[in-house]
Amino acid sequence: MFNRSRLEQNLAAVVDRIDRAADRVGRDPKGVTLVAVTKYVGSEVVRKLYDLGLRDFGESRPQVIWEKRPMLPLDVRWHLIGHLQTNKIRRTLPMVELIHSVDRLPLAEELSQEGIRIGRRAAVLVEAKLVADELKHGFDPETMSESLKAISLLPGIELKGLMTMASLSDHPEEARPVFRQLRELRDQVAEATSLPLSDLSMGMSQDFEVAIEEGATHVRVGSTLFDGLIDD
Ligand SMILES: *Cc1c(COP(=O)(O)O)cnc(C)c1O
Repeated sequence: MFNRSRLEQNLAAVVDRIDRAADRVGRDPKGVTLVAVTKYVGSEVVRKLYDLGLRDFGESRPQVIWEKRPMLPLDVRWHLIGHLQTNKIRRTLPMVELIHSVDRLPLAEELSQEGIRIGRRAAVLVEAKLVADELKHGFDPETMSESLKAISLLPGIELKGLMTMASLSDHPEEARPVFRQLRELRDQVAEATSLPLSDLSMGMSQDFEVAIEEGATHVRVGSTLFDGLIDD
C-alpha cells in the first residue's frame, strides 16, 4: 500500500529545503513555486499530494495531463514541462496554467493562434538550451534575444520568463553556472527589450536548492518527493 505518511514527510522535507535555500539568499520562499512533477505516479498519488495542499503539478507529456486532469479537482494548476507537438496544442492549451517548454518559434506562433481562437493568451516560458545535450531542446542563448522579442510580440502569447535544465550530475554545484547563466540572460534580455520576464523555471530534485539561490521562481521536483515510495 502506498505510504501516505512517507509522502507527507518527503513533501515537508522538500518544502523545508526550499525555505532554507530562499533564506540563505534573503528571498521570500513565497516567491518560489514548487511544481510537483508527477510523471512517476498515477492520479491517486497526485490526489494525495493535493490533499496535502499542493496545487501545482507538472507533467512532461501532454497526453498524461489529458488523462490525469479529469481525475482531480478543477483547481489543480497543470504545468507542461516537456516537448509539445503542435498537433497537441488544441487539446492541451485549455488545460494548462503554464507551458514551461516553448523550444521553437513555430510552436510559439501556433500557441498564439490558438490562444486568440479560444480567447485566452497562452502563458509560456521559453526554454534555453544552455548545455550541450542531444536530448535537450531549446533556444540557443546567442540568438535568444531576437527570438524572445518575436515571441513577446505574438498577440496570443503571454511571455512570462525562461526555463532551462542543467546536465544530470550528482553534484548540485555543477548546475550553478547554468542557472546563473539563465538569470543573467534574463536580466540582459529584460533590459534590452523591457520585457519583464519575471519567471525562471529551473532546478529539479538534484539541484533545486542551488536553483533557488540563483533566482528560480519555479522548481520542478519529482523523484525526491517519491523517495521510498516508488521503484527507480
Ligand atoms: C522529470 C522532470 C523533472 C523532475 O525531475 P526529478 O529529477 O525527478 O526531480 C523536472 N523537469 C523536467 C523537464 C522533467 O522532465
